Amino acid sequence: MRNIDNSKIAEVFLVISVLLEIRGDDPFTYRAYRNVSRVIDRLPHQLTQIIQDGKDLKEIPGIGKAISEKILELVTTGELEYYEKLLKEFPDGILELIKVPGIGPKSLSRIWNELGVGDLVGLQLSIDDGSLKTLPRMGDKVIEGIRRHLDLLQASAGLFPTHVVMPVAQKIVNAIQDGFYVNLDVLLAGELRRLEEEVSKISIVCGIDDKQTEFLDFLQQLNEIFVINDVVGSKIFATTSEGIDLEILTSDKRKFAIDLIEQTGPNDHFQELMYAAKEENIELKECSFIDEVQVYKCVGLQFIPAELRFFPKIFKMAETNSIPELVSVNDIKGDLHVHSTWSDGKNSIDEMVESARSLGLEYVAITDHSAGLGIANGLTPERLIKKNLEIQKLDNSIEGIKIFSGSEVDIRFDGSLDYSDDLLQSLDVVVASVHNSMNQDRVTMTNRIIRAMENPFVTVIGHLTTRKIGLRPPIDVDLDTIFEVARDTCTALEINSSLVRMDLKDRYVNKAREMGVALIINTDSHNCEDLKAIEYGVKIAKRGFCQSHNIVNTLSLNAFLKWIRSEKSKRQIVLAELFEKEA
Ligand SMILES: [Zn+2]
Ligand SMILES: [Zn+2]
Repeated sequence: MRNIDNSKIAEVFLVISVLLEIRGDDPFTYRAYRNVSRVIDRLPHQLTQIIQDGKDLKEIPGIGKAISEKILELVTTGELEYYEKLLKEFPDGILELIKVPGIGPKSLSRIWNELGVGDLVGLQLSIDDGSLKTLPRMGDKVIEGIRRHLDLLQASAGLFPTHVVMPVAQKIVNAIQDGFYVNLDVLLAGELRRLEEEVSKISIVCGIDDKQTEFLDFLQQLNEIFVINDVVGSKIFATTSEGIDLEILTSDKRKFAIDLIEQTGPNDHFQELMYAAKEENIELKECSFIDEVQVYKCVGLQFIPAELRFFPKIFKMAETNSIPELVSVNDIKGDLHVHSTWSDGKNSIDEMVESARSLGLEYVAITDHSAGLGIANGLTPERLIKKNLEIQKLDNSIEGIKIFSGSEVDIRFDGSLDYSDDLLQSLDVVVASVHNSMNQDRVTMTNRIIRAMENPFVTVIGHLTTRKIGLRPPIDVDLDTIFEVARDTCTALEINSSLVRMDLKDRYVNKAREMGVALIINTDSHNCEDLKAIEYGVKIAKRGFCQSHNIVNTLSLNAFLKWIRSEKSKRQIVLAELFEKEA
């Protein structure tokens, strides 16, 4: 029995239906497959489970003998002969073509039968030579959408989402640190250090001085994690078991800082730095530096943090010493978006709080989900009240950290919230988030979130655009208006540290900050380990030029208490005063 879930099976039947329609089969047949696909997609139980339980698939309404046999074949062998045969009648690229948004089965059928186009390359050509435009329903707007999709595919070719690559990279860094004596440091460089959303490779700099041979021998032992392809000078080229390119540069005390800058990139940045040095008659690679700060200093520049090296105007700012002092991980005093086993978290409140305390936080809010649509084990008002009692008890008995009661309350489709105002008022911290009806049009969605921000008890909007990188696009929302209302209603916006979200993204963080919106960096942790991800949220904030006074949870506990206990409409003034005092 294969581990195939319903959505995969439904997809196979949907593709069959589309291919039959393109082939010009009887509508009765392809519609039947489409219906089956829909039925399977909506089943509350997994088909593999139903089969394992020995139940008859034909008892499911909409599934007859022929389909039931096909499902059994798919689940037991992992393949379906009928489907494979059908696929062979078309070019290899047909599956990619089916996935292009904006092209339904009818158009696909015309594209294939009238233009002879059966893959993405052909589709691009048919746009370029104007033939696609001659087909019905292929107006300028549709074609523009298709073109954008093709561009996106091309742009993401060879790139991996950071949330996929980071754990792999961390595993490699740890393996080197644990297994080999490194007299300097093992540091992530490249796109991961800059925290781009997608990366082309993992880049690591290792300070091992002259132990190159021993180091290579050691790396060979890690062949379950990666395989070495080539060694050129001090650079080792490898491929991880996930198929990601890996570059390890070995360095020594003299070169480490400059190597780290070069490997961190982007390339343009390093070239510009080399050029600036040449102007001063300095050969950077010949010099010896203690750290990166010294490298920039020797060229007459202010230090440029790795997170800002992508920014085109950053050299100009460094020349005039106008890069502000950015927020750092040590500035963060609390985490205000944390889940526990009360909803969909993996660790108890005690465990989460203990971890937060050991990370040096002064306060933490436990914000489990509201009952909402019944997903994520959300809390009914009764359970929320019970949970608050538990928090109060723990807070009274624990030293060294303050525990806030809280909730991540669903913003319903119309902007109302899952809990009554009375209940919300009883909480210390309310994170309001969109978790459903994500396809609403821009006006409806914007108004929905505005309504939530206008609630006097909502502290912060969680993961504003709800995107998941590579998995789910952002909602359609008017961010300028949201930022304005956030500022005017004194609602903070969250920078979510989870790498799959990175939401708000750097560009929007920058905009919100410029418009005077208060920001909060949260982890949205679902287990103890997640709490450490705060460093990524801080990196996003840095990419948006945030200083500590732009981030509410850099306030010490007492100041933060004053902020949440002040009337919401006055929080902007209160915040400014508090930061003035703390400075
Ligand atoms: Zn959420
Ligand atoms: Zn959450």
